Amino acid sequence: MASSLAASSVFELARSQQTGSCQAFDNIFRVQAGQAACQVNSDLSKRFGLAEQNIQTVVSVTNKVSLQQTWFNAVRKNKPQTFKAMDQQSHDATAAGKNCDFCAWEHSTADDHFGRVESQHAVTASNLFKYCEPCHGLVLFKHHDPLAFSQQQLGELLDVSDTWVQRAGHAHPHAHHPFFLWNCLHRAGASQYHGHAQVMLSSVPFPAELQAQQAAAAYQQAYPGRALHEDILTAHKHVGLLRQSGHDSSRSCIYANVSPAKDMELVVTGQKLACKTFQSMMFAALRALIDHLGVATFNAAILGIRPPYSQSHPQSPPFPGVQARIASRGNLSSKASDYGGLEVFGGASIGHTDPFDVIAAVDQQLAAFPPNK
Ligand SMILES: [Zn+2]
Repeated sequence: MASSLAASSVFELARSQQTGSCQAFDNIFRVQAGQAACQVNSDLSKRFGLAEQNIQTVVSVTNKVSLQQTWFNAVRKNKPQTFKAMDQQSHDATAAGKNCDFCAWEHSTADDHFGRVESQHAVTASNLFKYCEPCHGLVLFKHHDPLAFSQQQLGELLDVSDTWVQRAGHAHPHAHHPFFLWNCLHRAGASQYHGHAQVMLSSVPFPAELQAQQAAAAYQQAYPGRALHEDILTAHKHVGLLRQSGHDSSRSCIYANVSPAKDMELVVTGQKLACKTFQSMMFAALRALIDHLGVATFNAAILGIRPPYSQSHPQSPPFPGVQARIASRGNLSSKASDYGGLEVFGGASIGHTDPFDVIAAVDQQLAAFPPNK
């Protein structure tokens, strides 16, 4: 057996590059360090003990065989947690933005080095505590209540996210992997009540991206001439779980996943973040969950966003356009987590709500607010 290496931290492991002496380690793991920067004003600098010209080291460790991936950043130990008690939730809801950092975004959030993207209802900031490099941003609604948003407000959240990815991509042409995620309220992983999403541009691919590519390639090999993304849509349409708006390049679909990753999963496909048909179907999916099924806490993520230099990236996308996934995170007032050993290590999930009840809620929403075509 080769001599052992005893590093004292993953940061030292990334710095040392000594793993080259062990074939087993190199076969299985990739350890990569990178830097992420933001501009911090003097008040924030004093409050969190962060340098004004802030540069943080982020290390990603990827198991290349299982695709499990973990991000480390020592600075995140300083991250504030505003949901300190269970009654904080009701306080935040009734305080209407008083003492909210994100309502005071101009002074209480950091800037990306390429500036902010701002529209009437949404604005970007740089994440103060990064877990992704080279770019990790926030996208904020300009209003406080995370569950009260119009189609216009959601559209602007997605528009400024799209512009942020383009700017980040131009600033970092060798980073090819954007990701959008939205954790709504503490049960879903949010640390602030105020409605906000996160945007990332990563130098390493996200596991979900790699898994989708591998699944698409394996499916095509098993069923020559067929495409996985089209067959998933066809399968859901066949059993009555899919709704569609628009045609050809502006086509957007919503389906209630028949094997949801978490309760009430809806998948929305479309051309791109800034496509109005996609935005209106995303709005329909979210409002169906919130207004018709009583969801108050959810995770949403969008895969397939293209950075400006994606043409030079050798890996082909697993599906055309973008794909949003949205799932409920259970009862906001429950002390029991909806995430246990089955999910963490079993890779499985318990379905509480029948997907046919979820698509019925989408039908109610689409009847009340027909989507843009
Ligand atoms: Zn706020």
